[in-house]
Amino acid sequence: MANHLKEERTLVIIKPDGIQRSLIGEILRRYERLGLKLVAIKMMVPNKDHIEKHYTLDPNWRTITGEKTIASYKKKGMKPPSEDPLEITAVILENLKTYMTSGPVIVMVWKGVHAVKIVRKITGGTEPLTSDVGTIRGDFVLDSYQISDIDKRSVRNLIHASGTEDEAEKEIKHWFEENELINYRHIQEAILYDVNLDGILE
Ligand code: GDP
Repeated sequence: MANHLKEERTLVIIKPDGIQRSLIGEILRRYERLGLKLVAIKMMVPNKDHIEKHYTLDPNWRTITGEKTIASYKKKGMKPPSEDPLEITAVILENLKTYMTSGPVIVMVWKGVHAVKIVRKITGGTEPLTSDVGTIRGDFVLDSYQISDIDKRSVRNLIHASGTEDEAEKEIKHWFEENELINYRHIQEAILYDVNLDGILE
């Protein structure tokens, strides 16, 4: 847990499709203009082992994602490919490993008040078809589970963003060495966080 609320951090990955769609600048702009502070950034091509570890940092991820996917099939009146959540997630994970290692990604850490929730809000829901208008996924991509399932691949949704503060801290440690994270003061923090806004008037 962060010491002060403005110290909250979250991990964001621009996935290979985000890079190939020339959306790096657009995506950075969306987070930057909120007032979040970028404290780490790098481009890399991850390997499959790194991706598997990323998705399974939460030991319950396989079960939760499998159950969620089965429920989403049933809600749409469709028969899930299996009733076993672990079988479903095994396929999802294989597809994610192919997707996430298909080209370079950009990994970053953003810091600020409510960083985790604010980034998730701006990023939009996981499935682009139903992501809200105005979110990055809602505005810049058109994929759906229906189409990605037919093609037996991951849904292309441009970005990964941590789901909770606890998940964020684990993911940051998974992707970055401590010395890659930069502690610095951003001049706009005064206007975002100073209680009395001292120092504006001359
Ligand atoms: P995130 O938190 O937005 O990254 O999404 P989740 O952790 O809930 O899901 C991770 C991945 O699982 C997604 O990127 C999808 O590839 C896959 N996934 C999640 N829910 C479903 C679903 O209902 N159907 C299918 N086909 N895939 C899903």
